[in-house]
Amino acid sequence: MQAIVIGGGIIGLSSALYLQQSGWQVTVIDKDGLLNNCSYGNAGYICPSHFIPLATPGIIRQGLKWMWNPQSPFYIQPRASWPLIDWGWKFMRSATPEKVRAAAIPLRDIALFSQRCYMDWQGIAGFDMAYEHKGLLEYFQTPEKEEHAHHTCQQANDLGLDAVVLSREEVQAMEPQTKLAINGALYFKCDAHVYPNKVMGSLIRHLKALGVQFRTHEEVTGFEKNNGRISGVKTNRAMYSPDIIVLASGSWSRELAAGAGLKIPIMPGRGYSITLENSSNKLNYPAVLMEGRVAITPMDGNKIRFGGTMEITATNQPPRMGRVKGIIDAVKRYLPDYHIPMPQEKEVWFGFRPCSADGMPYIGRSKSVTNLVVATGHAMVGMSLGAGTGKLVAEIANELKPSVDLMPFLPERFQ
Ligand SMILES: Cc1cc2nc3c(=O)[nH]c(=O)nc-3n(C[C@H](O)[C@H](O)[C@H](O)COP(=O)(O)OP(=O)(O)OC[C@H]3O[C@@H](n4cnc5c(N)ncnc54)[C@H](O)[C@@H]3O)c2cc1C
Repeated sequence: MQAIVIGGGIIGLSSALYLQQSGWQVTVIDKDGLLNNCSYGNAGYICPSHFIPLATPGIIRQGLKWMWNPQSPFYIQPRASWPLIDWGWKFMRSATPEKVRAAAIPLRDIALFSQRCYMDWQGIAGFDMAYEHKGLLEYFQTPEKEEHAHHTCQQANDLGLDAVVLSREEVQAMEPQTKLAINGALYFKCDAHVYPNKVMGSLIRHLKALGVQFRTHEEVTGFEKNNGRISGVKTNRAMYSPDIIVLASGSWSRELAAGAGLKIPIMPGRGYSITLENSSNKLNYPAVLMEGRVAITPMDGNKIRFGGTMEITATNQPPRMGRVKGIIDAVKRYLPDYHIPMPQEKEVWFGFRPCSADGMPYIGRSKSVTNLVVATGHAMVGMSLGAGTGKLVAEIANELKPSVDLMPFLPERFQ
């Protein structure tokens, strides 16, 4: 049985792994060279702590306030675009306290499941991910964020997640070599992190060894349909007739899904990161700057990565260096002794998070196109949910009972 996976990011590659392992002959098609996509330069958090989806009432209020600030961490590029208006409308309708509450259990369950899958990968010979289970500190500086931290900690504990609020002194004792300008932190002991570039490299090597075929620099341009099934996958080079197709094309999934007759609202949410090697800046634990909305990850021994910004924009826009400066300035406010040199434009990594309209990924078999499995829209948690999503895709393709309830993730929920 032949499977085509469209997209070689973490979601596509994890899907390819579990499909090939369960007996499918898999071909991964990617329009680029598999050397860079959103799955490389991210912060690497494998984080059950992220049980609050992107679409919250708070983010809309904050986004409107930040609209005209070129260094702000959240920005929507205003433009006359029907997909953007449609996505924005659905996003606002999803950003209610009830929907945010309802998302918590499904997001926790899929994240814990995915974390277990990553732990399984550690057992694969030669598979190096620089996986570390140290937890995640969320630093706060203001009384508002401190209150928010206590509230989130209570929610996490109610969900059975190991989290605790620490005082400034307690955090400082965990980071003795770094001066911290904070009031305390929310410590999620349940979280882990990886070095994403190593995860991707290990996956590609392992998939090749398993016999997965790769077609790189080949773009899927459309589909031929027959009797509610895809009978042909068209690319700029060839036509394929697989038994099953996995749509894992990240921020480009909306257009591709539309070609198969599915409405999957997705907007690219650009983020930037800077990675320093052998830097004198040291941290023992990954950290999120709550007010600054920056993620800092010490990874792979001698590296430290600073990432942030959510810029709802088109994928062909040049990077906005003001936002990179915004990340660097935010770090300085929390870690006053840190020095991050302002990088040249060509040194800045950026990637497009596939943002669904309600902050929940789209995972499931299409109702209207029976041999199409959708796995996209993971927004800020694609790395975290990557391994688990791949296993779920294989369970769906093999018509097995999925390991987590897929109802909240139905791909055609906005149809
Ligand atoms: C700054 C930053 C920090 C982040 N930190 C974290 C974190 O700590 N933890 C976490 O869980 N997530 C994090 N994320 C989010 C995470 O990186 C994404 O959710 C994840 O990488 C999405 O994976 P993907 O496979 O869906 O998409 P991608 O990695 O973008 O892969 C999609 C692939 O599809 C290919 N493609 C698209 N269209 C076609 C086509 N027509 N034909 C063929 N190929 C096609 C593309 O070339 C691309 O290679 C972060 C993101 C950013 C930007």
